[in-house]
Amino acid sequence: MSGSERNFENTFQDYDGRTSLQSPDGKIAEPFLSRLKEETYKLLKQCEEGFQYTRDDRDYSVYTGSGGMAFLYMHLSETLFKDNEDQRQKYLKNALRNLEHDQHGLRGRRMTFVCGDPGILSSLAVLYSKLGQEDKSTKCLSKLLSLSDNVCGGDPSLPDEVLYGRAGYLFSLLFVQKHLGEEKIPHDIINQVWYMDLHLCNQLMYIKNNQSLIPNIPDSTNLSLHYFVGNDGRPLQKALSAQSVQSHLGSVESCVEFLLSKQFPSGNFPSSLESGTDKLIHWCHGAPGAVHLMIKAYQVFGKEKYLDAALKCGEVVWSRGLLKKGYGICHGVAGNAYTFLCLFKQTGDQKYLHRAIKFAEWCFDYGQHGCRTPDHPYSLFEGMAGTVYFLADLLEPKSSKFPAFEI
Ligand SMILES: [Zn+2]
Repeated sequence: MSGSERNFENTFQDYDGRTSLQSPDGKIAEPFLSRLKEETYKLLKQCEEGFQYTRDDRDYSVYTGSGGMAFLYMHLSETLFKDNEDQRQKYLKNALRNLEHDQHGLRGRRMTFVCGDPGILSSLAVLYSKLGQEDKSTKCLSKLLSLSDNVCGGDPSLPDEVLYGRAGYLFSLLFVQKHLGEEKIPHDIINQVWYMDLHLCNQLMYIKNNQSLIPNIPDSTNLSLHYFVGNDGRPLQKALSAQSVQSHLGSVESCVEFLLSKQFPSGNFPSSLESGTDKLIHWCHGAPGAVHLMIKAYQVFGKEKYLDAALKCGEVVWSRGLLKKGYGICHGVAGNAYTFLCLFKQTGDQKYLHRAIKFAEWCFDYGQHGCRTPDHPYSLFEGMAGTVYFLADLLEPKSSKFPAFEI
């Protein structure tokens, strides 16, 4: 596959099946492990300096602001600095400092983990609890839960997706449950939010059955695949993670089937229902986002066709995933590399680990390929912090999780 206007040609050799890439302890094998650590430290230093220099205190979001840097620091305390107690404590405190500062600037505008207040409140609730400050943790938690009225209040302008909508709020609740225990979040709140998301399935089924967009619904032209497999999407992926919603799985599966029918022969997915062109290979639009949904669907419904769809995503991302947009996770090479980590976790096939390693090697030469510079060059979702996050995740590939998205 040669390069194009959007991607570089991938000239890396594919896996030859000869070397084992993972150690028995679950870490990536030497000699790559040492190199990976070294490159991660180097990029982290660059990222911290750059972030301080360009910092905008008005942006507290996980997507492009200081909330994202705090989220990276929390992640590093569990990965890169897991065995170094001094550094681990230092990075937890750094994360707390950022988040406490952010807390004063919350504006109650967006209801999601990645772009709004819930990201800061749920991260703080977890962090305070880890640091033994339970009173403060409880306060953040009750603020987080009080937002559920806004999320479930039937505001028709609130979308369902991950970046700006209900699925992003749902992620915040599941994030707290994962770290602090299920009992911290009442089940009826999770069910209520999930149920609101379910109406998106119904809307999608309307489109499928009538072959047209929905009349009399504002912005129904925006009801696109984007909501499911793109930027913003994946309420379905989130929905399938909430275990208390088994009774509606039939509707969810119909939606997944419909989305599956939209997969291009290349393995990519369109960026919207109206889009018939096979162009973008981003986590936010296309196969690198869809792969997570297809794997989740395979785990829940057990049908091979979902796994096959996911494997096809892996092929197109390998051939067209070295993006000229840069190295980030939303629409860059690090985000695309999570496609391979997702497939490796599911299949155990080292081919996918090899591919993730090659994309990491590409990131080692950060800034040397002539890519565009993002608007927020050091941020978690657009810039270098996301690349560092991915590299630290690769240390123990089976534990890796796409940030602020996979539970
Ligand atoms: Zn993006």
